[in-house]
Amino acid sequence: MGERRTRARDSRMVSGSYVCMTLLLIVLSGCAANDRRVPVDALVVANGTVIDGTGGPAIADGVVVVRDDRILAVGGGAEFDIPGDVKVLDARGGTILPGIIDAHTHSTGDPAVRRAFLVDGVTTVCNVGTSLDRLSRFEQASVAEGPAARGFFAGPIITVPGGYPGPAYGSQFSYEVGTPEEARDAVNDLLGRGASMIKIALAPGDPRDPWPVLDLDGVRAVVEEAHGRGAPVRAHAIEPYLVEEIVLPAGLDVIDHSPFPILSAEEESSVLESDDPPSQLFDVVAPEFEVLMARVVEQGIVMVPTLDAHIGTLYKKIDRSRIEQIVIDVHVEAVRRFHLLGGSLALGNDYGANPDVESGMPLTEMRLLQAAGLTPHEVIMASTRNAAMVCGQGDRLGTLEPGKLADIIVVDGNPLTDLQAFETVTAIVQGGALAYSEEH
Ligand SMILES: [Zn+2]
Repeated sequence: MGERRTRARDSRMVSGSYVCMTLLLIVLSGCAANDRRVPVDALVVANGTVIDGTGGPAIADGVVVVRDDRILAVGGGAEFDIPGDVKVLDARGGTILPGIIDAHTHSTGDPAVRRAFLVDGVTTVCNVGTSLDRLSRFEQASVAEGPAARGFFAGPIITVPGGYPGPAYGSQFSYEVGTPEEARDAVNDLLGRGASMIKIALAPGDPRDPWPVLDLDGVRAVVEEAHGRGAPVRAHAIEPYLVEEIVLPAGLDVIDHSPFPILSAEEESSVLESDDPPSQLFDVVAPEFEVLMARVVEQGIVMVPTLDAHIGTLYKKIDRSRIEQIVIDVHVEAVRRFHLLGGSLALGNDYGANPDVESGMPLTEMRLLQAAGLTPHEVIMASTRNAAMVCGQGDRLGTLEPGKLADIIVVDGNPLTDLQAFETVTAIVQGGALAYSEEH
C-alpha cells in the first residue's frame, strides 16, 4: 500500500512539510504543504497526543488514519491533507493510544463480561484458563447493548493427571496429559479449536502435600509443538526451582504470576522480626533469586505478574499490618528487580480468579506496575504491545502502526504524567468502528 510509510520516513516528511509550508509562505508557490492525502472513506482520530505503544516518542498534535478495520497511517497532524468531508474523531486535546489489553483473565468467555471491559477502554482480553465447553463463547463479538472486547483464549491448562488447576478449581479447567506425545496432541487440539496461546501449569501447591507437575520432557514437547505453529507458551510458575528446572531449559515464552523467593520457616520468622526493608530479603536471604531472574531476562521471557490478584486487596487497604505490608513489598520488590534487570512485563490482573479484581480498566495493576518501578510509558507498553505479544496477537494488535487492527482509545489528560488519565476514556474505536464516544 502506497500510503504506508516507515517512521523514519515520517520524520523526514515532517521536516519536508515544514520546508514546503515555509516556501509556500514566502513565494506562494504551488508546493503542497501536506502531502499525505487522507482517503475520503477514512476515519481520522485527530487533535490529541499520540502514544503508539511501540515505545517511540509521543506525537504532539498527532493523527491516526483508519480505513476499514485497519490503521492506515500515524503521524503529526501537519503531515496530512484531510479532505473536508472525511469523518474526524476529535480527541479534544487528550491522548490517543492503542486499546488496552488485559493479558491474563478468566471467566471472560461471556460476551456480556467482555462488554464491561470494552466500555472502559479495554478492547481485548486474553483468557488463560477456561473449560472446553466455553470456547465457542469467545466467537460472539457483541451483545444486544453493543460490541464486546475481543477475546483470545488458551483453553484448559495443560497439566499432568491430578495436577493444578484440577484439585483447586475443577477438572474442567485442566487438560491432562500423561506423556510427551499426549502433550503434543493437546497442543494441536487446542490450537485447532482456536486457541492463540498455550498455558501450562507448574504449580505444586502445598509443599507438604504437593500436586504432581509436568516434567521437562512433557513441557519441551508442548513448546516445540506450539512454536511450530507460531503460538506462545505461558506457564503458571511461582516457585523459583521450577523456573530453574523447567521454564528456562524448556524455552517457555511467558511466566504468569511473579516468582519470588520461597523462604524456610526460620528465614520467614527472621524476616518478620526484622525491620529491614524488603530489599534486605532479596540481598541477604535469597541472593540467588536475582541470579535466576537475570537468566529469565537473558532468555527474553516476558513476565505477567498479576499483582492485583496477589496483593491488590491489601494495597487498597488504608491500615495495613506489618505482615500485610511485607506481603506487598515482597511481590513488588520481585517485579522491581526483574524490571531493573531489563525484563519485559505485560499487564494482566487475573480477573475472574480473585473476586476482588474488577472488570474494566485495570488501573490497580497499572499502579502496582508503576510501584514496581515502571515509568508510565513502560506501563502503557506493558498494557498494549507486550500484552498483545504474550497472547499471540503481536502482529495484529497492541500498537498504532500501519496495517494493525484499528483498536484505539482516547483518554482525557496525559497518562505519561498520571496514569489516572485511564479513568477517563472519552472515545473507543474497535476494528475501525466507533464503539463509544462522549460526543454521541
Ligand atoms: Zn490466572
